[in-house]
Amino acid sequence: MQRTFKVLLLFCFLTTQGFAQTFPLQSLEKIFAPQDKAVIYIANKIITMDDDKPTATAVAVSGDRIVAVGTLEEVKNALNGQGFNIDKRFTDKIIMPGLIDPHLHIFLLAFLAPTYFITPDDWDLPWAQIKGISGHDSYMKKLRETESLMKDKKEWLITWGYHQYFHGKISRKELDEISLTRPIIVWHRSFHEIYLNTAAINAMKITEEKIKGHGLASEQISLAEGHFWEAGFIYLSYNFLMHHIASPLRFWRGLKMCKEYLSGGGLTTIADPGIELPNSAMLMIKLVFDNDQTPFRSLCIASGQAIYDKYGVSKTLEETEKRLKENGHRVYFQPKQVKLYCDGAAFSQDMQLKDGYTDGHKGAWIQTPEELETCARLYWNAGYQIRVHVNGDLGNDVLIGILGKLMKENPRKDHRFTFDHYCVSTPEQAKQIAKLGGLVSVNPYYVYVLSDLYSQFGLGPERGQHMVRCNSLLKNNIPLSLHSDTTMAPARPLYLAWCAVNRLTMSGKVAGPDERIGVKDALKAITINAAYVLQKEKEIGSIVPGKIADFTILEQDPLTVDPKQLKDIPVWGNIFEGKIYPNKFKGRVGMYSKREMEKLENDPADINAKGGNNHDDLCTVNQILQKSVRDQAATSQ
Ligand SMILES: [Zn+2]
Ligand SMILES: [Zn+2]
Repeated sequence: MQRTFKVLLLFCFLTTQGFAQTFPLQSLEKIFAPQDKAVIYIANKIITMDDDKPTATAVAVSGDRIVAVGTLEEVKNALNGQGFNIDKRFTDKIIMPGLIDPHLHIFLLAFLAPTYFITPDDWDLPWAQIKGISGHDSYMKKLRETESLMKDKKEWLITWGYHQYFHGKISRKELDEISLTRPIIVWHRSFHEIYLNTAAINAMKITEEKIKGHGLASEQISLAEGHFWEAGFIYLSYNFLMHHIASPLRFWRGLKMCKEYLSGGGLTTIADPGIELPNSAMLMIKLVFDNDQTPFRSLCIASGQAIYDKYGVSKTLEETEKRLKENGHRVYFQPKQVKLYCDGAAFSQDMQLKDGYTDGHKGAWIQTPEELETCARLYWNAGYQIRVHVNGDLGNDVLIGILGKLMKENPRKDHRFTFDHYCVSTPEQAKQIAKLGGLVSVNPYYVYVLSDLYSQFGLGPERGQHMVRCNSLLKNNIPLSLHSDTTMAPARPLYLAWCAVNRLTMSGKVAGPDERIGVKDALKAITINAAYVLQKEKEIGSIVPGKIADFTILEQDPLTVDPKQLKDIPVWGNIFEGKIYPNKFKGRVGMYSKREMEKLENDPADINAKGGNNHDDLCTVNQILQKSVRDQAATSQ
């Protein structure tokens, strides 16, 4: 591992040298390029998400800005003598503001992309079309098939997506039946548990001796079962797993796959709350994402928890500010925004609930309420927008309490304190959050993938059916935004809109029909309201003159299709900062060619050539994995 990170630093160094040489030329081009002609795009319909002029048929773009919106005649007149070209390629299409996902995790997605997805739910990926699988036999059959198709006998089989509620209990013995020689790693859908076969245990040199005497971690490992969970999983990650699987080249390949995937869903802005990586890994993200070939921008939000843990009260703010120094054009940290953590995950039933779980198990805190309050106060008094991962109704109560205290001590206007995820809540809590001026960004996919199950296990029907109360939030005029928390949910905003509008579960039933929302509100939640939660509503999120020309081009009108078809609307492509990016992914689901796959696996030469141009949920495991990579980077320097 030490060696690989040094190699990584070297690649990054070489590639940044390449940047330095080409930059002055690009600047000259910008100065002398004729910028005076506008382009008028004509569409079947333009959904502006601007209440003053909700629809239009023409939009004029000059450089990277929207200059006029209306009918073709209105737009021509508004150009006031400025030259223009008319682009008719979208005449039969729908133009929307560029779609925004305000909460997903680049690092984890890149880390997982090269693994084999065997999941309960479907995933349309550029390199594979994954059909959800349930039942123990079907799961084992798929795993066996996957293994038998792997040509390289030495390659490790790493699969993600197993969940015992869907796939039944698995064990080391069963994995050994698949292969005694190939290391197999089965990563839980929630990320915080892993199963290993004997070959993997041996390859990582894990022994009974080594895992003894580590307190809670040792209790949360069963070597006989090949099972590592909670603290045992963290122990495994730090001490064995990452050394074997977190190589920079793997990360590089994963980032490229991640970019292909994100490009396909019409996203023009993504945000990653809680990112804290070594400079070398951040540089890799920039190399892959911060160039002209990328049709979206990536906003990073500092992990207040990681910074606080490392530097303590006195240096936390200063360190947070430092993250802004290396900002690029498409990849940058948002000033005065920070991510903190309240209770545990929805996927693993670790959220904190007022009335507990039906089977009596307990939830968990990620940051204790005391620590969370200390961190929140620090950032609050420094004028930060605070985004908090919170899932259960007890978590909400704690957070409402903290926000209430902070507002009393030091009242702030427009603070945009945000509750992120909001799995289990009460209608009363929506009222309280509204009163305090808070925002809520939800993951509506929970309803689709977990409502059926949690109504039976852990939550019971009342709470299980009413997860993610979108309508209660809207009734209290809270600007609702939707996020994927990818890979918790697919990074497909129209899919998230479909979840919030229909509240259909995996079995096809409607869960908590009173919490469904209208299509228009769902579209707001993936455009203008998602911009608002990121403090970007003055620049993006609607089609209004003066804003950045970010559009998502759709083949069908989301306002007129059957709402049950929302998730299936094909995305033609994006216009990002005035430049057109047709969707490479379109119609090619699962059709990545062998050559393209090999390209993704490419070597340093490719990096040089192309470079010039978390029982926790994803958030927490994201923190853990990032930390282990950071620690490894630190020891190699
Ligand atoms: Zn989270
Ligand atoms: Zn998250």
